[in-house]
Amino acid sequence: MQGLMHGKRGLIMGVANDHSIAWGIAKMLASHGATLAFTYQGEALRKRVQPLAESLGSSLLFPCDVEDIASVDALFAGLSESWGSLDFLVHAIAYSDKNELKGRYADTTRDNFSRTMVISCFSFTEIARRAAALMPRGGSIVTLTYGGSTRVMPNYNVMGVAKAALEASVRYLASDFGPQGVRVNTISAGPIRTLAGAGIADARLMFNYQRRHAPLRRTVTIEEVGGAAVYLLSDLASGVTGDIHFVDSGYNIISMPHPEALKV
Ligand code: NAD
Repeated sequence: MQGLMHGKRGLIMGVANDHSIAWGIAKMLASHGATLAFTYQGEALRKRVQPLAESLGSSLLFPCDVEDIASVDALFAGLSESWGSLDFLVHAIAYSDKNELKGRYADTTRDNFSRTMVISCFSFTEIARRAAALMPRGGSIVTLTYGGSTRVMPNYNVMGVAKAALEASVRYLASDFGPQGVRVNTISAGPIRTLAGAGIADARLMFNYQRRHAPLRRTVTIEEVGGAAVYLLSDLASGVTGDIHFVDSGYNIISMPHPEALKV
């Protein structure tokens, strides 16, 4: 039987190591038959990303730092030359100064606010526009968000504001690209131990709280996020766009924790 993603080619942005959510997504896409290209942020990460990409049979690798628009342009020029067109894109990129992922949101600096928004939010719009231009027969785009966008999560601070703007971007881009058959969705993942996740103060408490209070009483894996991404990027989700799809053990539905979970 041919895989769900057989014959589809896509770009994966945001693998830093084998704990990255983007890596969980890449593995699941490859296991369903997708052909993948990867980006890496700077030479230091190339050493990690290249062997991972090769393990999935991919040799198409581009450097890309989204703060450097010339590297974004070079990436899409390279993709256009190698493949000519694209079926899907995964954007799993975020950054904020960890000194501001603790304490009060009110103390966020102008410089870090701007940098966080450019890397974690605006880069998605810039990249989605270039990707959609390579999708003449339609396609599917997915980015990653977190529930701190709509509800206050201690220490998540400016990243919560960036994710709120990212989610709004998903809706506007879904509307812009819908007429050409390009779908745009986001996965709201529960907390996962990754490099980016570790930058948030008291991350361990967040994991433990999720384990205790989410309906499934556990955190999620990068492979579970990957499974949802396969659905959104495949033709199974051909009628779905502009959506926020939660992969968080159900944590987002909870108001008051269950009394059983409150017993020590
Ligand atoms: P990660 O550290 O593995 O991945 C973050 C990626 O962002 C890295 O590959 C890094 O190279 C890239 N990046 C940062 N600045 C960049 C720049 N200027 N140019 C290009 N790339 C840049 O962490 P992750 O948790 O896998 O994060 C992936 C996405 O998932 C992020 O958007 C994050 O906010 C989101 N997310 C994470 C969690 C979690 O708990 N880990 C939960 C929900 C959503």
